[in-house]
Amino acid sequence: MSLTPILEETLIKRSQQKKRTSPLNYKERVFVLTKSKLTYYELRAEKRFKKGSVDLQRIRCVEIVKNNTTVIPCQNKYPFQVVHDSIMLYIFAPSNESRSLWVQNLKEEIKNNVQIAAKFHPQFWQEGEWLCCGQVDKLAPGCEGYNLFGDISRKPLPPVPGDESSAVSSGQHNVYRFTSHIKPSEPLLISLSSPKTRRPPPPPPPAGENTQEETGPREEVVIALYNFEGLEPHDLTLRKGEEYVILEKCDVNWHKARDKHGEEGYIPSNYVTEKESDTLEQFIWFCKNVNRNKAEEQLRKEAKDGGFMVRVSSNRGTYTVSLYTRNTGDGSPTVRHYQIKETNSSPKQFYLAEKYIFSSIPELIEYHKHNAAGLVSRLRHPVGDQTREAPKTAGFSYDKWEINPSELTFMKELGSGQFGVVRLGKWRAQHKVAIKTIREGAMSEDDFIEEAKIMMNLSHRNLVQLYGVCTQQKPIYLVTEFMELGCLLNHLRQRRGTLGSQDLLGICHDVSQGMQHLEQNGFIHRDLAARNCLVNSSLVVKVSDFGMTRYVLDDQYWSSSGAKFPVKWSAPEVFNFCKYSSKSDVWSFGVLMWEVFTEGKMPFEHNQNHEVVMMVTQGQRLYRPQKASPHIYSLMKMCWMEKPDERPSFTELSLMITDELEADGPAS
Ligand code: ADP
Repeated sequence: MSLTPILEETLIKRSQQKKRTSPLNYKERVFVLTKSKLTYYELRAEKRFKKGSVDLQRIRCVEIVKNNTTVIPCQNKYPFQVVHDSIMLYIFAPSNESRSLWVQNLKEEIKNNVQIAAKFHPQFWQEGEWLCCGQVDKLAPGCEGYNLFGDISRKPLPPVPGDESSAVSSGQHNVYRFTSHIKPSEPLLISLSSPKTRRPPPPPPPAGENTQEETGPREEVVIALYNFEGLEPHDLTLRKGEEYVILEKCDVNWHKARDKHGEEGYIPSNYVTEKESDTLEQFIWFCKNVNRNKAEEQLRKEAKDGGFMVRVSSNRGTYTVSLYTRNTGDGSPTVRHYQIKETNSSPKQFYLAEKYIFSSIPELIEYHKHNAAGLVSRLRHPVGDQTREAPKTAGFSYDKWEINPSELTFMKELGSGQFGVVRLGKWRAQHKVAIKTIREGAMSEDDFIEEAKIMMNLSHRNLVQLYGVCTQQKPIYLVTEFMELGCLLNHLRQRRGTLGSQDLLGICHDVSQGMQHLEQNGFIHRDLAARNCLVNSSLVVKVSDFGMTRYVLDDQYWSSSGAKFPVKWSAPEVFNFCKYSSKSDVWSFGVLMWEVFTEGKMPFEHNQNHEVVMMVTQGQRLYRPQKASPHIYSLMKMCWMEKPDERPSFTELSLMITDELEADGPAS
């Protein structure tokens, strides 16, 4: 059967990062070759996560990469190339024998392909040129005849630089010897196919072939998920659905890229997705951030029989199809949720109904568009996420954090806080922003300016984006994402009585996701509370003001005995010893959950700060809000464990909240 693995081994793939020499860019992946695909997975906690897959029919060339100068910064020293479409995949095998086995098996599988390359590049594309022939066009035809039936890797090769064992391992072993030497405990080799599927060794290679190897960079092709209008001359405009080549990953948020016309410039990394990856984000039916409740709401709003979407059902990486139908006997509309099940096989496969199994989710959806096959209806109308809009960029452009104040226009006042007045404004007369004017004497400005760059790089759907600062004048300004519905606390109070517990849990989910991002980046908020979260017009809740208390000059605010110190949100180790951590943020998150489920009540409303310190120290906790189920209340109480270590992390909390959002009713 076509899905039986022919070969399976842990190899190293060079990720599409900017620096070819960084060891971080060489990732171990479990490669699986079947009759139809070459798929690679990340192995985490003994589970496989699919990272990419190449359709064998699209491969034009498979060959070793010649190298005799560059030290390869990973333990596998034997590169080979898989060329498909205009993409080069560079893979590193642990030995010449392993490489030969892969190259020969792949060649065997592609031998009937229509588009086999006549010529190829035996060396790497590096810093804008092919090392083998010096051509500077990435798509330039190859410079050496391609022999689909030869095996140049079986010839004696020169020693591989940086590999002590290369004198032995690059000797004249053949594939038989390689396979017969595999010990079950060999770390890099997970398993091989059964002997009967293994191929005999290929014939010896023709004489006179170049036996040198070379290493070099690998280019990454991405697809734009959104349009991006470059804002600075050095930016590159993105058009949704078009392909771009990544030239350099300047930082986590900005990449340098080239479009099909050869134009180069900076693009926001969150606007594109790897072409090789099988991300679902390119499909309109994929609604990544829609929970069960919102899915039902959106599908009912569309009210189309057979309206459907695919959403992430939990952080554990499973997906659910939500389907709207009137096919219920009495004609009353209903939304059904079907979990997409996965087989235990390798590579894993997907199904809704056990009889119809597919190698990818898009294939599964395509099938069920035409066949109900066990579902209450076929998937007739994809319904996209109405709240999905282009994400915010980390700053307006790459390396731009100082904003020219003359490019700002000031509009209405939005509120005022610890640092001063916040106004709605526009940047370059076009982009709505919130501008915070920092009252003189309110902030320790130099320290803040130091940190602002780090804050700007914290970019997440559930964090209010800092776009930049104006520091060349007094007062200084902070320019941030504008959040139409203002602060979460007022939002809760104004809508009291109208929000169901799923809506409330959805709010907590948003906050937990933003906090998870801070936690993962080692960033502590220190003042998490509903008043420091904001809501946008799509009802997405985002965490704001992270880390800002460190720059408040008013000692009533940061001294734990000060009148403005947020004692009611503080963990005991904070009000006792000012010991902040992500786990003290977790405590505050528990209080925020309480604020959410009471729809904006003041915690310990009848108590003064010093009383709260006593009560909490004695083990007293906030009561269960009416709208919080016992299970939700148990989540809050986990956040209020006295010992920080006993509290869950935000990653764990996010998972638990996602599960709770799903638990409303089982997926079919
Ligand atoms: P400070 O950090 O100086 O204490 P806040 O961030 O609390 O100030 O802002 C004060 C008020 O201004 C908030 O309660 C909110 O109503 C409004 N506000 C602040 N930032 C924004 C924003 N990005 N979008 C919309 N309104 C905002």
